[in-house]
Amino acid sequence: METDEIACSSGIEVVRRRVRHLRIEVKPPGVVIVIAPLWISKERVLETIRKHSDWIETKKRYVQQASELAKKLRVKEKSHLELDELVRGLVRKYAELLDVPVPKVKYRFMKRRWASYSEDGTITMNRKAAFLPKRLIEYLIYHELCHVFVKRHNRSFWHLISMRFPDYRRLELELLAFHLKLQESCAERSRDSLSKQR
Ligand SMILES: [Zn+2]
Repeated sequence: METDEIACSSGIEVVRRRVRHLRIEVKPPGVVIVIAPLWISKERVLETIRKHSDWIETKKRYVQQASELAKKLRVKEKSHLELDELVRGLVRKYAELLDVPVPKVKYRFMKRRWASYSEDGTITMNRKAAFLPKRLIEYLIYHELCHVFVKRHNRSFWHLISMRFPDYRRLELELLAFHLKLQESCAERSRDSLSKQR
């Protein structure tokens, strides 16, 4: 891994890796990292950054906003029983509302997702959802059930979402903020246990 000097001045870090395609990531608290294949020229990298500069700025602001919000969040954990009861009730409510069969519910720890829907009719909830307030859990369940109709996050999908949750953009931001907050508290906890071991 080698860091390129080209984009450092613009606050963008370019990392060269054995990857096929160039990709741009925005990491909290708003760091832009461009992962570029080894063979691609500096000019091409710069051109791609320029071409996507609006997207980069928007995404950066979004991640910064979520990081700020994360600092203010207070998290309270529900017991698994409490979470499961809430989830099952909401799954029934929204399956009825959307007129779809009531899905099965599973739980597991997931790194990058709060919930997912599989075509066999199962909603998998991240166990970390125990830290979320009810409204966000409601949104997650409605979101996953909307995937019964539309698989991708396209315009019609967000239209369907907005019929019940017109403030979905804010809710998505809050979900990212909770994700960051929990990541941070996990890191703190492991730092604590490390220093206790010493
Ligand atoms: Zn989705």
